Amino acid sequence: MKKLTLMMTLMIGLSCTQQKKEQAATEAVPFNYNVEQFADLGVLRYQVTDFDSLTVQQKALVYCLQEAALWGRDIIFAQNNRYNLAVRRTLEAIYTNYKGDKNSEDYKNFVVYLKRVWFSDGIHHHYGEEKFAPGFSEDFFTAQVKALKSSLVPTRQGQSVDDFLKEITPVIFNPELFAKKVNQDKGIDVIVESANNYYGDGITQDEVKAFYDKMKAANDEHPVPYGLNSRLVKKDGVLTEEVCKVGGLYSAALEKIVFWLKEASKYAENEQQKKVIDLLAEYYETGSLAKYDEYSIEWVADVNSLVDFVNGFTETYGDALGIKASWESIVNFKDLKNTALTKIISENAQWFEDHSPVLPKYKKKQVKGISAKAITAAILGGDCYPTTPIGINLPNSNWIRKEHGSKSVTITNITDAYDKAAAGSGFNDEFVCCDYEKELMKKYGSQTDNLHTDLHECLGHASGQLMPGVGDKDLNVYHSSIEESRADLFALYYIADDKMLELGLLDNPEAYKAEYYKYMMNGLMTQLSRIEPGKQIEEAHMRNRSMIAHWALEHGAKDKVVELVKKDGKTVVVINDYAALRKLFGQLLAEVQRVKSEGDFKGAQTLVETYGVKVDPVLHKEVKERYEKLGIAPYKGFVNPVYTASKDKQGNITDVKISYNEGYAEQMLRYSKDYSPLPTYDE
Ligand code: ZN
Repeated sequence: MKKLTLMMTLMIGLSCTQQKKEQAATEAVPFNYNVEQFADLGVLRYQVTDFDSLTVQQKALVYCLQEAALWGRDIIFAQNNRYNLAVRRTLEAIYTNYKGDKNSEDYKNFVVYLKRVWFSDGIHHHYGEEKFAPGFSEDFFTAQVKALKSSLVPTRQGQSVDDFLKEITPVIFNPELFAKKVNQDKGIDVIVESANNYYGDGITQDEVKAFYDKMKAANDEHPVPYGLNSRLVKKDGVLTEEVCKVGGLYSAALEKIVFWLKEASKYAENEQQKKVIDLLAEYYETGSLAKYDEYSIEWVADVNSLVDFVNGFTETYGDALGIKASWESIVNFKDLKNTALTKIISENAQWFEDHSPVLPKYKKKQVKGISAKAITAAILGGDCYPTTPIGINLPNSNWIRKEHGSKSVTITNITDAYDKAAAGSGFNDEFVCCDYEKELMKKYGSQTDNLHTDLHECLGHASGQLMPGVGDKDLNVYHSSIEESRADLFALYYIADDKMLELGLLDNPEAYKAEYYKYMMNGLMTQLSRIEPGKQIEEAHMRNRSMIAHWALEHGAKDKVVELVKKDGKTVVVINDYAALRKLFGQLLAEVQRVKSEGDFKGAQTLVETYGVKVDPVLHKEVKERYEKLGIAPYKGFVNPVYTASKDKQGNITDVKISYNEGYAEQMLRYSKDYSPLPTYDE
């Protein structure tokens, strides 16, 4: 449920000069938010605001937890495709041993490809899901692999380099093989056609469904998230789960994670936090999902600690059926100033639930345990690195959310880094229709962006209830898109409410228009910059935004509420009636909540397929050309800071220093060298 949108990333441009050599960060040098840019990707740096205000014990805790975060990096590569570690290791060996002409086109394109593999945790675009094409020749690749010392080539046991090349070359060069990481196209077998590594060979969608349907005991009110932390394979024709645990799948990485969790436990701020950390270690040791639920419940209850973390098999966006979770980690601590604002929102949660345009039977009578806070990210790991969400709402288990509540966070230093890096990109001048909106966005863009995130996470995901017998799996492949649109619509509906002024969250009744304009412009136009020519929209959050914007465009067409207009030969979004647009958002919110509450698969399918998936090829081409002219990278990711611990003779951490001067390739290579315990192949 995390990942409130990267919508804002669209607003961001790097003034994309090639990164100057990193200067050592000193007080006098302003913080350097832009690191580098290649392909459609921009690498930024975030600042860990107020790290120095932590106590030594808290710093030590952050240190151990960030080690636990970094040790999981291999897992996400392995999960995304079974050849990702082989590809990454081969490319890195070539990169670090290359002796040829560094100005040749082949080499330059090779470096871009490697940087993309690092960025996407594998060979598929992190957002578009499609396998990206290498810009260097097969001959170049073959020659480079052959030039390596054979001990540096990640062959299988006993495999020759020639046979290795036969196996790995099509993985990189054949566009048909592993074409898409997650394929949700209509009418196909989404398991067979997806290139991720959550399912073994020869397993069909129907078999997966039957396997997990059987596991779900009837009338179990507290079901564990079946299948979350495993890979499903066929052995001698029988389906069995390979469970991720110490001694099981991904053991070498999980052992390191457990080691650092046990270290972290020594520095816990209080008993509750210690319990949480210890339970997580036990879960990794046993692979027991009941233990995971136990951990999640205690994690939700840990609200008093300053330091907090996510570490685990968490989000299911990477599996077309939403069963298997990718491994991720974020270590963070409370941003006290901004937490005061989210607290106001969550304290009024019941008011928002009661006054929403949703039918009464789909509302929660009591909205429970929404704890909201603003956080400062200290490290990003696994599926959250280098691209990261700006908001998180966990756990995902419905019954735990209902009975124990959830934690909702907005990550303020990441949002801040986006904003700072974006200054002066020329984006608004290019895409925003009118001076009125430009002015509002300049003044309120950042504030309403953050507020939208807060409302989405604290209220949107927490609102509403399912009818008896309805579960998330009922919406099947449309579940994520519908869930995200529900949270977005809740936020859009309320950001225009007088309640925002009454609660002191906004000080101008027109401020919300900055968010409305940005949302419609993004959903109708600018997010298309991230889609490859000829492709449709795949990713759940993008589908959600497209769906909301196109639904509002169509349903307000008669009254010209919103229009796409040509101005000086360029397409722009014009909003003629903001009040009417808010009504439309309210109407759609009621419908989307009904679809979710009833588990109405047909309804979800109609909404998403009609409004969320299709791309107008002419507008698409125009948007991409205008982006290119501005030199804006449509996607952003981050390098992490570097933490260095000092220890006393007994091995206790006595201080932790943070630094920001590591470059992108430098960091990726260091992680691959120091934090890469998994074997290249699963078996
Ligand atoms: Zn969300």
